[in-house]
Amino acid sequence: MVADCNDPLAQAADLFCEEEMDLETIEASVSKILEAIGENPSREGLERTPSRVARSYEELFSGYRMDPKALLNEAVFDVAYDQMVIVRDIEFYSMCEHHILPFMGRAHVAYIPSDKVIGLSKIPRIVDLFSRRLQVQERMTTQIADYLQVVLNPQGVGVVVEGLHMCMMLRGVKKHDARMTTSSMLGAFREDMSTRMEFLDNISRGAERLHF
Ligand SMILES: [Zn+2]
Repeated sequence: MVADCNDPLAQAADLFCEEEMDLETIEASVSKILEAIGENPSREGLERTPSRVARSYEELFSGYRMDPKALLNEAVFDVAYDQMVIVRDIEFYSMCEHHILPFMGRAHVAYIPSDKVIGLSKIPRIVDLFSRRLQVQERMTTQIADYLQVVLNPQGVGVVVEGLHMCMMLRGVKKHDARMTTSSMLGAFREDMSTRMEFLDNISRGAERLHF
């Protein structure tokens, strides 16, 4: 639930202001889709499918309504540390906004503090905040970097996201191994080649291939 939609943190999180998802409309619409593909929505196996889909959407699209204050939960600290902090291999699951099919993979996030650091467990929550929505990977990557910039005002932020897209694997071009890599580099990560290389070297070391 969104505490205060005008709060700068909430604005940086690009939230929806209405509190609840309209589950009834989702159910009715899923039922219509089942009919439209030629299925019988009242046969036993499908009877409860519309309500299951609606409830799964609450979770899959929960990123629109996360409370960013509760998410950070006072885990931003003043610390005199000015070396790179890297959290790599953060699993994420998102839904592509063009096909409403999943895309998923790993996010690697780094920053160089100015005077504030964030509890490490909060960085995966920030990835969830932006991945649990209808997304394109490019925008998700930028949003994660911009949000950290607002929360920490660090010397720089680097975000690299590697994703496998079901819409490419299941349909259309059917490219099963094509993974997409996107990045967003701010501050020192954009301006200083050696900073960027330190981050990229770190995340490529021992990296496994993405797979389902
Ligand atoms: Zn797609």
